[in-house]
Amino acid sequence: MGLFGGRKTVFVDADILVIGGGMAGCGATYESRYWGRDLKIVCVEKANIERSGAVAQGLYAINCYMGMQWGENQPEDHVRYARNDLMGLVREDLGYDIARHVDSTVHKFEEWGLPIMRDPKTGRYQREGKWQIMIHGESYKPIVAEAARKAATEVYNRIMVTHLLMDTGKSNRVAGAVGFNVRTGDFHVFRGKAVIVCAGGASHIFKPRSVGEGMGRTWYAPWSSASAYALPIQVGAKMTQMENRIVLTRFKDGYGPVGAYFLHLKTYTQNGYGEEYEKRWYEDTKALVGDYIDRHPVPTCLRNHAILKEVAAGRGPIRMVTKEAFQDPHKETVGWENFLGMTIGQAVVWASQNIDPKEINPELTTSEPYVMGSHATCSGAWASGPEDYAPAEYQWGYNRMMTVDGLFGAGDTIGGTAHKFSSGSFTEGRIAGKAAVKYVKDMKQAQPQVGEQEYRDLEKVIYQPLENYRVGRNEIVAGTVSPSYLLPIHGLQRLEKIMDEYVGGISTNYMTNGVLLERGLELLAMLKEDMSHMGAEDLHQLQRTWELNHRLLASESVTRHTLFREETRWPGYYYRGDHLKLDDENWHCFTLSRYDRNTGKWEMEKAPVYHIVD
Ligand SMILES: Cc1cc2nc3c(=O)[nH]c(=O)nc-3n(C[C@H](O)[C@H](O)[C@H](O)COP(=O)(O)OP(=O)(O)OC[C@H]3O[C@@H](n4cnc5c(N)ncnc54)[C@H](O)[C@@H]3O)c2cc1C
Repeated sequence: MGLFGGRKTVFVDADILVIGGGMAGCGATYESRYWGRDLKIVCVEKANIERSGAVAQGLYAINCYMGMQWGENQPEDHVRYARNDLMGLVREDLGYDIARHVDSTVHKFEEWGLPIMRDPKTGRYQREGKWQIMIHGESYKPIVAEAARKAATEVYNRIMVTHLLMDTGKSNRVAGAVGFNVRTGDFHVFRGKAVIVCAGGASHIFKPRSVGEGMGRTWYAPWSSASAYALPIQVGAKMTQMENRIVLTRFKDGYGPVGAYFLHLKTYTQNGYGEEYEKRWYEDTKALVGDYIDRHPVPTCLRNHAILKEVAAGRGPIRMVTKEAFQDPHKETVGWENFLGMTIGQAVVWASQNIDPKEINPELTTSEPYVMGSHATCSGAWASGPEDYAPAEYQWGYNRMMTVDGLFGAGDTIGGTAHKFSSGSFTEGRIAGKAAVKYVKDMKQAQPQVGEQEYRDLEKVIYQPLENYRVGRNEIVAGTVSPSYLLPIHGLQRLEKIMDEYVGGISTNYMTNGVLLERGLELLAMLKEDMSHMGAEDLHQLQRTWELNHRLLASESVTRHTLFREETRWPGYYYRGDHLKLDDENWHCFTLSRYDRNTGKWEMEKAPVYHIVD
């Protein structure tokens, strides 16, 4: 298709526009209908909401459930847990808000047909750990999607949203979004009175461990392409804690999950010589982070830290001791089924490498870093908190509204609230949906104005890679190399290499410093310049191009935040070699950034952390 050939422009008006139909997006769509019976609610998704999002990687547990009906945990307990795991820095108002509502979300899931396992003795949900309950995960996303489909006025699948639109009549107010249909190529212009971004986290911004024949395999979903961050960043929304990338300890080569093994099968780890090693690093870690090492449970990053130190000391590999647990046939079945529901690839890797966990203790390794707001990490947009609970400084309007008027978010999109997982993300979507409906109703008839010039200019930019390819391919002399364009895979690998080598990826053992970060920013700027030469062979590659654009902008944000925070807050996630210690005196705070797309400049600032729960 040429630049202007045969493509339709489709205009859609919405009261509430939900971008991304994963867990948070389905929650936002569902709840918006509850409060906005007469509103037009539109959900736009780049895949198909039936199976889309990180949950489509497969789950076996709902990782955030209080169990208040049985007095198991209270919301305050969850705030303490998340705060501890994130080394003191979470938005307690937002976390509490999710925790107090998350049980009702899980009860809805069960009502809608999700099979949740029960303890035959107590009749309660089967616990895998303090916060986790076990489910049959295969049907999870279709069940959740059905609720969203029934609630939405319209669902647009296969639309990759590339940019948000701003109101031409009122500054700092969102007006909608544009994107393209990845199957037909049609250009879509959405106008929305409120926009809720729920576009998931970011994998593939750091070079993955899986290369060559394993390329594309990552722990977090490979299709999580940072749109949740790039879309708000582009329009000047403030971001927080973008330096707080996460590194996961997983089974080697398949990224198979370890949670059920630790919690349910009661397995444990040891070094290559069969020794316990975590205690060995106690004093060393204490010297870096003080008494955070004495907290229970030990923060996730510090457990990674012990593994990294032990391997660097030459006593790898770290292994999971499965041989004992797998002698019990029931546990053996659970161990394998855990992969069946989540990571079949890990079982295939083991089979191909002659690993029977009953006979051999399998290796663990640490993953490349990922950026997200819903797991044991809290990167994302800076959002207004709940009216009844947030400190005044954290409230500037409606719950989960970003610093741009009318722009809301949930799930991986929103920063400061770790450990929400699938159920918490859906819950946060519901919270954002309710607040967005209130915003729209308060606005009464005021319609945001979308500028024709703005979306027509964006249309040219969006489809330009197809034209670059059409013209540039005539210069190909061999293979796929053209002097005139860059393919998305080349741009992606360049981005991953820069982030890996300069911003604390696997090649440097997660180490970086001010000098490396400054150089990383220079190289990212060069890649940014080259993005106008991207060539896309077809619509699929056009989508890859825009995913790369989003990853690139999010990566720049990660790099700037990492440079700004002059301490090593989360050893095991990354290290600032020039500031190797945790520094509570100067950095017990959130980092905030704001990008100005007109000047290309970033402003950085600190924001206070309020401890609301004792
Ligand atoms: C391997 C793995 C294991 C996990 N294990 C568990 C577990 O055991 N228990 C648990 O509770 N949680 C688990 N999680 C976490 C859970 O999946 C996430 O917390 C949750 O899915 C986050 O919800 P979200 O809506 O923010 O993102 P997602 O659910 O990822 O949804 C984002 C949606 O946005 C769409 N999208 C992205 N970009 C665009 C764009 N530009 N335009 C349009 N649409 C777009 C995506 O296609 C997707 O549908 C796991 C996640 C992974 C990857």
